[in-house]
Amino acid sequence: MMSDGRLNKCKACTKADTKHRYNLLRKDDDWVNKERERGREKYKRLNYKELQYKLNANRPWRHNSSFKNFRKKILDQIILVLNCKMIFVNIDY
Ligand SMILES: [Zn+2]
Repeated sequence: MMSDGRLNKCKACTKADTKHRYNLLRKDDDWVNKERERGREKYKRLNYKELQYKLNANRPWRHNSSFKNFRKKILDQIILVLNCKMIFVNIDY
């Protein structure tokens, strides 16, 4: 970061650099555990649980079982597709 508070690079480069840094650091188990701990601390400190209750109050479909089941199925399919993509990424052609 520059002394004026700017990064001196464009948004796309910043996103790419962040992704690269994350992919390097996520191989480090200590870092992953620290991040996990940081996320949990943040969740409690900023009271995300209560916030989510408030947000869900405006979304009555969140209590609808058919919506929940549909969402679970969709998530399963997304995870399946992502796993397939990861398998393809791991194969060197
Ligand atoms: Zn750039």
